[in-house]
Amino acid sequence: MKKLALHWKILIGMLLGFLVGFILTKTGNAEFVKDWIGPFGTIFIRLLKMIAIPLIIASLVKGISDLEDISKFSRMGIRTIIIYVVTTLIAITIGLSLVHIIKPGNSVTEETKTELLKEFSGTAAGKIEKAKAQEEVGPLQPLVDIVPDNVFNAMSSNGLMLQVIFFVILLGICMILIDKEKAASLKSIFDALNDVIMKMVDIIMLFAPIGVFALMANLVAETTKPDLLIALLSYGVTVIIGLFLMIVFYVTVVSVYTKKSPLFFLKGIAPAQLVAFSTSSSAATLPVTMERVEEHLGVDEEVSSFVLPVGATINMDGTSLYQAVAAVFICQALGVELTIGMTATILATALLASIGSAAVPGAGVIMLIIVLESINFPSELLGLGIAMILAVDRPLDMCRTMVNVTGDATVSMLVAKSIDKLGDPAPKELDDHYTL
Ligand code: ASP
Repeated sequence: MKKLALHWKILIGMLLGFLVGFILTKTGNAEFVKDWIGPFGTIFIRLLKMIAIPLIIASLVKGISDLEDISKFSRMGIRTIIIYVVTTLIAITIGLSLVHIIKPGNSVTEETKTELLKEFSGTAAGKIEKAKAQEEVGPLQPLVDIVPDNVFNAMSSNGLMLQVIFFVILLGICMILIDKEKAASLKSIFDALNDVIMKMVDIIMLFAPIGVFALMANLVAETTKPDLLIALLSYGVTVIIGLFLMIVFYVTVVSVYTKKSPLFFLKGIAPAQLVAFSTSSSAATLPVTMERVEEHLGVDEEVSSFVLPVGATINMDGTSLYQAVAAVFICQALGVELTIGMTATILATALLASIGSAAVPGAGVIMLIIVLESINFPSELLGLGIAMILAVDRPLDMCRTMVNVTGDATVSMLVAKSIDKLGDPAPKELDDHYTL
């Protein structure tokens, strides 16, 4: 196995996990899987999350303090945000077009609706509660939430990544502004910390095939009522076609603009895509995305250290595409007439909702409720609407997270190329393979 590329090892781990999970569950050993295999998946996710905040701090401080002047940073920042918004709008447009062409909602039978409601009404009610809590804030609250009142508090929670980014950008800028010699000692500490944490990513990734094996096996063991997945097939397929088109779009844009081959891009990013797929969390995948983009795609750290953490929190093309499809699907299935104005509202709110979605499993559904409420979706049907899509939510979450991460990597390549910061890949020692 030593010479096998990392993405193949991860893929084999995933397939074996699926197979073992399936066999053990079918033979009545689901509890064994949950107790004895699942925890290794949890350990893998924890290892990745453990280094996310230190990695953002070290690499962003290094990235910004390497800049000679601040105007460079604002140029990069503006480009990043504009490209993020444009790609998200493209994703939503693809989702809306597909759902209108395929009309998956028309094929859901009354029987399926009743079954889904019976199975998922409790979970749906919980999600609606959570969405309500998010809605009860003022319009400028998201802006307020970016500024931490206690930076150490922010650093202690992966959910407060934007607050950490805010503080670290300010820190990096001030390091450029003070006396160079004084800043140098602080800078060398962050430089070293950055290298150390990147090495940790390499070591953790050696464990990735086992981690994803455990995650997949556990997922299969936890899946109840797999037959309901089939009932929602046309909806699921609509989302998956859309997500696939997004990947085609990314690959095309990268190869046209950066002149790098599609295979180069896909091979470089594949391990991050697979980790995203198995963890359903772009936040947990962030360390892997950063390592792949910098060392395997040749994006300068000045760019990746800013574009990727920001992207993991605000750029979710897969999620926004899914929200657009799901919102229209629910309306179709429940006979809610959609006007052009309502479709435009879905476009706008899905954009905002994907920015506001946390980079964790299942976050997209909560924001979907907000999208539905923005079009005045009848509240008495909301519970049923959400219950209808929950059966397939996990597999779709896995796929959309993969797209979210690929989108971030794409934008980092585009921004890097546009400011002449795209070089050749330089994988470090112990990367992907452990050789004694
Ligand atoms: N799981 C997604 C992510 O972390 C968010 C979502 O769509 O639920 O990127």
